Amino acid sequence: MIIILKSGVSEEQINHVIERVESLGLKAHLSRGTHRTIIGVIGDKSQLLPSRFQAIPGVADVISVLPSYKLASTDAHPDPSVVDISGVKIGGGHLGMIAGPCAVESAERMDAIAESVRAAGANILRGGAFKPRTSPYAYQGMGEEGLKILRDTGAKYGMPVVTEVMDPRRVEMVERYADMIQIGARNMQNFVLLTEVGQTRKPVLLKRGMSATIVDLLMSAEYILSQGNPNVVLCERGVKGFDSATRNLFDVAAVPACKGLSHLPIIVDPSHATGRPDLIPACALAGVAAGADGVHIEVHNCPEDAMSDGPQALLPEQYQKLAGQIRDLATLFGKTISPAPGSSR
Ligand code: PEP
Ligand code: MN
Repeated sequence: MIIILKSGVSEEQINHVIERVESLGLKAHLSRGTHRTIIGVIGDKSQLLPSRFQAIPGVADVISVLPSYKLASTDAHPDPSVVDISGVKIGGGHLGMIAGPCAVESAERMDAIAESVRAAGANILRGGAFKPRTSPYAYQGMGEEGLKILRDTGAKYGMPVVTEVMDPRRVEMVERYADMIQIGARNMQNFVLLTEVGQTRKPVLLKRGMSATIVDLLMSAEYILSQGNPNVVLCERGVKGFDSATRNLFDVAAVPACKGLSHLPIIVDPSHATGRPDLIPACALAGVAAGADGVHIEVHNCPEDAMSDGPQALLPEQYQKLAGQIRDLATLFGKTISPAPGSSR
């Protein structure tokens, strides 16, 4: 860490900063330039917190040379992490193919959609039982009944299942039914919820908040990792843009940007990123070409009748075509796709 002192700082102030540094068991290295004086600080990383020094008189700025997302960073773990979701690998050259409806709506519908996405090559089944809706009057999901349907359908088709949890009090329940727990964009900075899922050992699909920076996303992952759960998969699902032509702004550069900073796998969700079935295939393929470790897509067999996100759902036949293109691209990039584990889960 580097403490930059204000120009005109007094000897008394310099000595005071050094005393504060040393009182925390850290070492201070004073360097006087013609215009500025700086103090290099080394020692126990847990004490190297810029906020501890910013308010000291005479301090102009404090620069941390280590990222605050210590566990998520490539410094902590230079090789890409591989997350195993009940037999399906994501990361380190393994591509996840997550597909299913936005919401679990009924056992029959879940069955039909699961059958089609599994046949198309999806290896993880998705479906929300607790839906984060902008309006309190919109469909909120089937709750525990939906979790049971999702788990049973996943078991029938031999697919691990991922579903969202929104409430820290429901983590224990969702954990019982799901192979992977989703933290949605709206809850990316719900730190109580992150801490709670961090205390499980279930893989977590952490979606980027719609106004969150890449560093914010990595800091949220750090909350989970710091609780001892290493199984985090990041997801780029679009951020708020100014153009209503697309639902969100698909930030494809977030994929290589995250890979440069973190060992955690990152997948793309072109369904929520674009909100438009006509744009989903191109953005899914762009994500894979940019190095994504998986693709998350909403599929529905009757979008006009869907309880949520119908307008952005791909039809099963559209998903089947896209899945084939994703496989071709995966082969080109030397990636492997774990098959769905089979019906004997
Ligand atoms: C979803 O996956 O259905 C969802 C609500 O996603 P997001 O949190 O990215 O909006
Ligand atoms: Mn959705």
